[in-house]
Amino acid sequence: MEKRYHERNLMDFFTSFASEEICEQYLIKVRFPDGMPCLKCGKKDFYPRLKDRRAYQCKACKFFNRPVAGTIFHRTHTPLLEWFVAIFLVAFDKRGLSALLLSEELGLNCITARAMLSRMRRGMEKRDAAYKLRGCAEIDEMFIGASTEGGKRGRGTEKTPVLVAVSYVPVKGKEEVAGFAKLLVVDEVNEEAVLKYRFNRRHRRAELFDRLLRACWNRRKLHILR
Ligand SMILES: [Zn+2]
Repeated sequence: MEKRYHERNLMDFFTSFASEEICEQYLIKVRFPDGMPCLKCGKKDFYPRLKDRRAYQCKACKFFNRPVAGTIFHRTHTPLLEWFVAIFLVAFDKRGLSALLLSEELGLNCITARAMLSRMRRGMEKRDAAYKLRGCAEIDEMFIGASTEGGKRGRGTEKTPVLVAVSYVPVKGKEEVAGFAKLLVVDEVNEEAVLKYRFNRRHRRAELFDRLLRACWNRRKLHILR
């Protein structure tokens, strides 16, 4: 099966997304791999795109379809090309891109940059909530924040403790395939914090899952029941 997303470095990115039209076509391909259907009648036959609107009119029912409807790009005047570059910069910057830096990089005003970042974060949050840990998962703690001079390392640190769980699927005779990861900021790293984590909140057998989790905590390895 063809991958919907591909890793891209800086050169790949700017070569691949060189115009507004290319970005729009890419968006349509990712959202509708079998072709964009009309929102009203479901048919897939459209007139050529309107020049001044991001819309395609359906030949059958004349409804104007917007490929960006229902995405973070909807109801914004920012061109998709700028959006794509902004998303790339956010994904590329490990420290977390500020609105000020984004506005400078893209030549936008700070309010627009802040609104774009906010939409991106909401989008990531929504997507993240849909991820479930499956198969086997490994759990560990990490500490986030700037280190203070003379501060302790490890569990005695003043940094923020975060629980991390990564699921993976063992493949016979091959390397394991990494799945989703979940992170949770906790007050303290201990067994109770792990239990509260309840990696999959919609789990129907939560009680059993908790017992299993408690038993597995010491090994930092657990099996998520399906
Ligand atoms: Zn239609």
